Amino acid sequence: MSSAACIFCKIVKGDIPSMKLFESEKVLAFLDINPLSRGHALVIPKHHGEKLTDIPDDALMEILPVVKKLVKATGAENYNVLQNNGRIAHQEVDHVHFHMIPKPNAEEGMSIGWPQQ
Ligand code: AMP
Repeated sequence: MSSAACIFCKIVKGDIPSMKLFESEKVLAFLDINPLSRGHALVIPKHHGEKLTDIPDDALMEILPVVKKLVKATGAENYNVLQNNGRIAHQEVDHVHFHMIPKPNAEEGMSIGWPQQ
């Protein structure tokens, strides 16, 4: 099921472009358009659902291994994995997504905070 107005469903369908990192039957990963750090990625179920509780278990179970793959691909030793549900919890896009945010090493001279309060 997809939602016509949903920006991530449009990415799944290829109606708007994205920098794809991984794709399977149920899961898509792509770079965040407004990254908090180099390599900031989003991993989504292709099935449209607003919140975690709306997603079938079989799709959810495929997501964390993809997050792990992306972490390994960046080589990051420090990283955040985040998943926001609802406006008060900082969810802006109403299609379930997991953020994978690598944290640069201190010697790279960058400091990135999340979430921004
Ligand atoms: P959240 O606040 O958890 O809902 O995060 C939504 C994320 O989606 C933000 O980090 C946005 O930068 C990202 N985002 C929104 N539109 C796009 C897009 N077209 N392509 C990639 N990332 C997007």
